[in-house]
Amino acid sequence: MPRRIKAGLEIHQQLKASRKLFCNCKPELIQEEPDFVVVRELHPSVGETEEMDKTMLLELKKGKRHVYQGYNDHTCLYEIDETPPILPSEEHIRIAVRIAKAFDAKILPIRYVMRKQYLDGSVPSGFQRTMMIAHGGYVPLSNGKKVRIRYMFLEEDAARKIEEKPKEVIRRVDRLGIPLIEISTEPDMESAEEVREAAEKIGLALRFLGVAKRGIGTIRQDVNVSVEGGARVEIKGVQMLDRIVPLIENEVRRQEELLKIAQELQRRKVLPEEIMAQEPKDVTDILKKSKSKLVHRVLKSKKNKARALKVPKFKGIFGRELIPGKRRFGTEVADRVRVLSGLAGILHSDELPGYGIDEGIVNSIAEALEVGENDAFVIVMGPEEKLKDAIDAIVDRCIEAIYGVPSETRRAKEDGTTEFERFLGGGARMYPETDLPPIIVPKEILEEEPEMKFREAEERMREHGIPEEHIREIVREGLFEALRIIVEMGFEPKRASSMLVTKYRGLVKAGRINHERMDTEKIVAPFKAYKEGKIAKEGIETVRVELSKGKSLEEAIKAVGTVSEDEIREYARKVIEENAEFIRTVGPKKAFGRIMGAVMKKYRGKLEGRRIKEIVEEELEKFSRVFTRLAGPPGFEPGISASAGRRLIQARPRPLARKR
Ligand SMILES: [Zn+2]
Repeated sequence: MPRRIKAGLEIHQQLKASRKLFCNCKPELIQEEPDFVVVRELHPSVGETEEMDKTMLLELKKGKRHVYQGYNDHTCLYEIDETPPILPSEEHIRIAVRIAKAFDAKILPIRYVMRKQYLDGSVPSGFQRTMMIAHGGYVPLSNGKKVRIRYMFLEEDAARKIEEKPKEVIRRVDRLGIPLIEISTEPDMESAEEVREAAEKIGLALRFLGVAKRGIGTIRQDVNVSVEGGARVEIKGVQMLDRIVPLIENEVRRQEELLKIAQELQRRKVLPEEIMAQEPKDVTDILKKSKSKLVHRVLKSKKNKARALKVPKFKGIFGRELIPGKRRFGTEVADRVRVLSGLAGILHSDELPGYGIDEGIVNSIAEALEVGENDAFVIVMGPEEKLKDAIDAIVDRCIEAIYGVPSETRRAKEDGTTEFERFLGGGARMYPETDLPPIIVPKEILEEEPEMKFREAEERMREHGIPEEHIREIVREGLFEALRIIVEMGFEPKRASSMLVTKYRGLVKAGRINHERMDTEKIVAPFKAYKEGKIAKEGIETVRVELSKGKSLEEAIKAVGTVSEDEIREYARKVIEENAEFIRTVGPKKAFGRIMGAVMKKYRGKLEGRRIKEIVEEELEKFSRVFTRLAGPPGFEPGISASAGRRLIQARPRPLARKR
């Protein structure tokens, strides 16, 4: 029978804004080569309790340099912590309030910027600036359940990792400072499917508001899961919605298997003291006699040694599968060794003989360790100073196994499993920001009417007969507000939705419009210009494209250009003359497409297509009348040479408005 699970979500979504949260740089990732790097190192110091922070010591042990890449034009001194922050803009404040209202959360009218410690180097200053904006509120699920929201924070994103080398981590500060909304829920979800749905609903609500940035890495989900009798495990960095369900299912399986192992170890009456009492033995000389390539590769270096540790009553436990084909208990131990000591992994007795280590060698090690029938042993190889950390990590992890599931922060992997990242620390590493005053949310922003929720908007659109696929797209792309304004201008709803989805999204997909740079105002501007008679309907497209390039509306309209009907008429006549032979041969009806095409090629968007068509038709008609009178109907031998016909046409009076 499946056990009950409890799960909560923490969603980080990058926001669309015109500048970063604490400086004036553009909130965009830069693909060009960086202009400079700065290097930072961690310097340990004793805390107020006269102890050293454990997480800090762990980071220090990794001994990594932190290299930050920056730009002269795209980043400033703020990102490398060389100048104080500036206050968030009114735009940032308004977006945060809109989001809080969308979830019916209680808004805090005063915001205190806080410093949240980051010791892994992802922020050059060592802390991330964040502010709580609201609490409470909820996410409704389709089964009627309301997932309660705990907190909402407006905060800056950290630097992005470019490369990790053994002794240094290279990051780029372009991402640092991009505004993020963090929404965390209570652990109210009881199945993987509920977690997926809640994550989807939160994401949709943010996208619906048109405030969410798009693309890989712009939304990150952390999921915390505990099965009944297990412990809270936090899974970090789930980027895709459809990966949530397999990740949670695998995590539940892992915790269930760990609980079974705990039962088994308790049945075997394993005591922590027994494990702690074991002395590791140097097995370097024994292993050197083996034919194992792995062993010889590591032990080639004189400073590397091999140690083995007996783990009493653990026979069969290391080989136990937690996730079939993907993880064993041995993998869990190896993860810890890797993170906490920096060694590559372990070898354990459940997988030996193997790796070129034959039975004779295994027996010699077992003998040296006095391994009994129900015992297991683990081997680690590497430099002396790391072996102690590795042995400590193994002892700790094996003791934890007696009790069940350890509380950890785990990293989501591509294959749907997770691996140990760090211990679940206290989340209370917050200090007040001393460079910024408290932010008072302007009264008029607080009092703005809450917007329609996306589910209500969907219903309204359905009432207007807008097709489902348009509704989906409008909600997902945050186009509802634009649709509403366009309909208010007098456009028929279905036509308006088609203009937004088919035409606008078409241009986005074709890469001609950067949706990230468009806001509602820019999306509706061309429609407004059309309504005011500043551009033809066909010009809406061009104006959109120009606006997305960063041009002002005036510049965009100029790019479309306007033209008099006379000019088009004159050009149509010229095209007709050039195609006189063709028209004579196939007749004006069949020739229309070619003539219209040529005229549209030159004047598309500058006058309404319908009007251009009328002009071309009129001119073709006039031409064919003259032509028919002189030369007989099309398809007959003409009674006049083509050049004479042309001369006749050219001799006609210029304005041809006269009716016959
Ligand atoms: Zn900056």
